[in-house]
Amino acid sequence: MIRTRFAPSPTGYLHVGGARTALFNFLYSKHEKGTFVLRIEDTDIERSTIESENQLIDAMTWLGLDWDEGPKMEGDFGPYRQSERIEIYREKANELIELGKAYEAYIYPEEIDKIKEDLLSKGKPPHFTEEMISQFNSEERKEEYMKKYKHPVVFFKMPRKDYVLNDLIKGEVTFKNGAVGDFILIRSNGLPTYNFAVVVDDMMMKISHVIRGDDHLSNTLRQIAVYEAFEVEVPKFAHVSMILGPDGKKLSKRHGATSAEEFRNRGYLPEAVLNYLALLGWSHPEGKEILTLNEIIDNFTFDRVNSSPAVFDEKKLKWMN
Ligand code: GLU
Repeated sequence: MIRTRFAPSPTGYLHVGGARTALFNFLYSKHEKGTFVLRIEDTDIERSTIESENQLIDAMTWLGLDWDEGPKMEGDFGPYRQSERIEIYREKANELIELGKAYEAYIYPEEIDKIKEDLLSKGKPPHFTEEMISQFNSEERKEEYMKKYKHPVVFFKMPRKDYVLNDLIKGEVTFKNGAVGDFILIRSNGLPTYNFAVVVDDMMMKISHVIRGDDHLSNTLRQIAVYEAFEVEVPKFAHVSMILGPDGKKLSKRHGATSAEEFRNRGYLPEAVLNYLALLGWSHPEGKEILTLNEIIDNFTFDRVNSSPAVFDEKKLKWMN
């Protein structure tokens, strides 16, 4: 059973890159007659806003990227909202502690920073090890610490070995032993880190294909290690290349309309926007450019997704409208 998901952090508008990620997840699930899940990743409480959640949901609805599971209506965010799943992440972290694959410490944020600085000042990579952290795990520290913080910091014991990822778009990617050290699963405020919450959710929501921007490629190493620690199957990954402006620079505001909201305000038709977004990285087997949604769905496979950066040019979208 194919299950894909779009997992936006509600911190702004639905930009071209996010819209394309949502679209590719939608297309692949439709192509495979699978399920498309929408999950709101709102554990970054300082940056997440309800307005942004509503905007994302509006933009996806306008584009017609209907999800099969996830928040259905404005104000009703169903089960797939990370902030409502905090207890689950803590339970899952405890499972890893019991398995000896994670450990906790009553360590203050400033102490974590100090360890990092000390390592860097010695010219070493800022990688934590259990040896460095376990000295902060005493009963004496606990009382003082818990007056100020909600939760001991939980660290993942990163296995020291090479990892190989067979990405559906990038091909084989090797992460050398020692690329990262032990990392945090649960912070002192009791909230999970992105790398942990995303694995727990993808695992529990039985996601078969993780399709997202290649800015997440380096996180994938940590995520694979967490799947392996839970002894579950690792999903397939497809990392989509980044989007550049016509000048070859990273897409930004100065390249004109770059969000679904702006496309709508400028009067573009959702069909034209979807058609154009699909061609940002994907191509039709016969090179057709004006396509119905069904034609795109029928032909959407990863072997037709380009691994080099795509170029967004609003002029072309105008022409297609
Ligand atoms: N919330 C993450 C983001 O918006 C999701 C990344 C992922 O798909 O794993 O970048």
